[in-house]
Amino acid sequence: MKAAVLHGPRDVRVETTRVTEPGPGEVLVRVGMAGLCGTDYGIWTGDRPVAYPRVLGHEFVGHVEAAGAGVSRVRVGDRVAIEPNYSCGACPLCHEGNRNLCLARTAVGIDVDGCFAEVARVPERCCWPAPPGVADDDLMMTEPLAVVVRAVARAVVRPGESVAVVGGGTLGLLALQVLRGAGARVLVVSRTSRRFALARELGAAATHVVADGALDVAARAFSGREGLDVVIETAGSPEAVAHALALVRPGGRIVLTGLPHEPTPVAFFSVVRREVSIAGSMIYQDEFPEAMRLVAAGTVRTRPLVTHRFGLEAIGEAFAAHRHPDAIKVAVLTTQGR
Ligand SMILES: [Zn+2]
Ligand SMILES: [Zn+2]
Repeated sequence: MKAAVLHGPRDVRVETTRVTEPGPGEVLVRVGMAGLCGTDYGIWTGDRPVAYPRVLGHEFVGHVEAAGAGVSRVRVGDRVAIEPNYSCGACPLCHEGNRNLCLARTAVGIDVDGCFAEVARVPERCCWPAPPGVADDDLMMTEPLAVVVRAVARAVVRPGESVAVVGGGTLGLLALQVLRGAGARVLVVSRTSRRFALARELGAAATHVVADGALDVAARAFSGREGLDVVIETAGSPEAVAHALALVRPGGRIVLTGLPHEPTPVAFFSVVRREVSIAGSMIYQDEFPEAMRLVAAGTVRTRPLVTHRFGLEAIGEAFAAHRHPDAIKVAVLTTQGR
């Protein structure tokens, strides 16, 4: 099979590799369509080191091509979306139901080979049967969608509440739609107005550029009170936490999904004085069925977010395109549609 193998920073080569048989409990998935995200980009540039050689890619949909001994969750021929993280299953966190927090978690496309290949090998428990009648194009983003489904659930958003989404990228535009599905009024806040037309089309009631003046003023204008009930942060920048604090009302809730690795300055006085609740949200663990249900129901539209498509042999261009100003989601077509 063909696979895009990363041998070092910015050194990705499409090579013919041997497909090994699936082990017990494993399946081989023929990759239909894969998404490229900021994590993949960071690994490609070398900012985030991995053990080389490595096949990247963790957002994908495809067909089960072969099943190892004891596989019962899926059958050969099934179309599946892949949950690309699996926990150890043995530690106290896993036993408590906190699989997403397991310290021995394995990330497909980072710790083990991923989906920028014609075939990917994963444990069967990573496979979620795809709803019939929903195209690969629409299901390709189930993984980032599951991330925001969890983040919105952690905020316990009620119908009619005012919510700000900080960040206008893939996660922000997906969060906006999940929030609309929950009956919230949504303000999208971003460093640039580039995605605002699309945000409006996808249901944003208002948009605001961070540099366009005080966020607390914009928050009061939008909410008609002291600020927003909820802020969902998807920007992943250190400043985003301060932005969230400026937007939220006293007694409001903030959920952080971005992963700023740098230290983040936070005015904790404003957290205490205003009794703001701040929660982290880490990937997902039971959110894949809900994510696919939202897509199947038309509550969330993923297709307008796919701005670029490349065949597997053009993987280097796909990585470069991720940083293009017009890029939201770059797709890699490995088998299907070629
Ligand atoms: Zn990703
Ligand atoms: Zn564990």
